[in-house]
Amino acid sequence: MNTENLRQSEGNNQNSSPTTGNQGLVKDLNKAIVFNMIWRSAPTSRADISRASGLNRSTVSSLVDELIAEGYVTELGAGESALGRKPIMLQSNPDAGIIIGVELGVNYIRLIASDIAANVISCNGFAIDPADGMDRIVKTMLEAIESMAASVPSTLRGLIGVGVGVPGLVRSDSGVLAFAPNLKWRDVPLRDIMMSRLGIPVFVDNEANTAAMGERWFGAGVGVENMAYVSVGIGLGVGIVINGELYRGSSGYAGEMGHFTMQPDGPECGCGNRGCWETLASESATIARVVQAIEEGRPTVLAGLAKHRFTMDDLADACVRGDEVAREALEDTGRYLGIGIAGLINTFNPELVIVGSSVGRCSRLVLDEVEKEIRARGLTQLTKDVRVVKAALGADSCAIGGISLVLSDLLSLPKIAL
Ligand SMILES: [Zn+2]
Repeated sequence: MNTENLRQSEGNNQNSSPTTGNQGLVKDLNKAIVFNMIWRSAPTSRADISRASGLNRSTVSSLVDELIAEGYVTELGAGESALGRKPIMLQSNPDAGIIIGVELGVNYIRLIASDIAANVISCNGFAIDPADGMDRIVKTMLEAIESMAASVPSTLRGLIGVGVGVPGLVRSDSGVLAFAPNLKWRDVPLRDIMMSRLGIPVFVDNEANTAAMGERWFGAGVGVENMAYVSVGIGLGVGIVINGELYRGSSGYAGEMGHFTMQPDGPECGCGNRGCWETLASESATIARVVQAIEEGRPTVLAGLAKHRFTMDDLADACVRGDEVAREALEDTGRYLGIGIAGLINTFNPELVIVGSSVGRCSRLVLDEVEKEIRARGLTQLTKDVRVVKAALGADSCAIGGISLVLSDLLSLPKIAL
């Protein structure tokens, strides 16, 4: 396949220019349709594709032959048929190439490599120090990507794309990280920096958007048309899916609900405002509540951990062991989360809200508080059928979402210039 055709996409448009009206356009569209059907319905046959797409058999056969010659599709052998010759089944070729999805967190990097059928091949994660600054952290991330690509079994095309979720405001059309409040980075042309080093398409998006994509394609949101993913970490962000599509807004910045003012005179926020939702409902806010309780002299097992440098896992463990300070801090977080999510439900009327957080074994406690607030504060007509669940992909939602960013481009239809 001419990958340039596949990349001329509606999906992200970061690496594409529109296809002008020409004789090749119809063929490109048909080829993308055939590849999509093989990717989504594998194992499938040429006859099935012809039936489902309405394309005639000879067109399908010649496009499948091209896809096989280019290495994107492979034959699986004969399938089942009630009558006559058994059809040859097709699937996307797991040896075509690899994709790497990356979550750049405020204090960690997580990477997952998959084949083009989205089978996970390799995972890696490590801590970073935000004080190292942008140049060093980006260099570390690039080296980790190259090292992962070199460590997996070789494929026909090698690394074909990288998708990155970052904790800040991203112009998804240009891949520029405009502002990351918790990293204190501004105007970083991250996509271009990464593409010039890696020499392949790179897609950059906000981490909540990216995680929403991961859950929509492979997690709790599969088949859900209207949903929100609430990413609770050091900060708080929301990825909104409307009618099956990620809603990015006019500049690509939609979903910054973490900076919605919930308490006008509340704690200072990294964005410069006070009392933003994330200053009350994020993991940092939860930890800050425990630190305050320790300073007030309240008894908690967490007081024993040096310089209050405990993690959310420590906090969740303390809660399971009956620590009251830890439990109250998590319940407060659940309440603040619920207040914001009730507003989200009233605004967008989703059928599903996915909460991504590292509260681990205490997620039920937090989600119970969220549910209570939603029922108490949301409009009944909007809240009665909404489901609130924790992320099915857990800590991998964003990195797997990075893989989805590349796949959505690979599988998208050519863009038509009008
Ligand atoms: Zn803020």
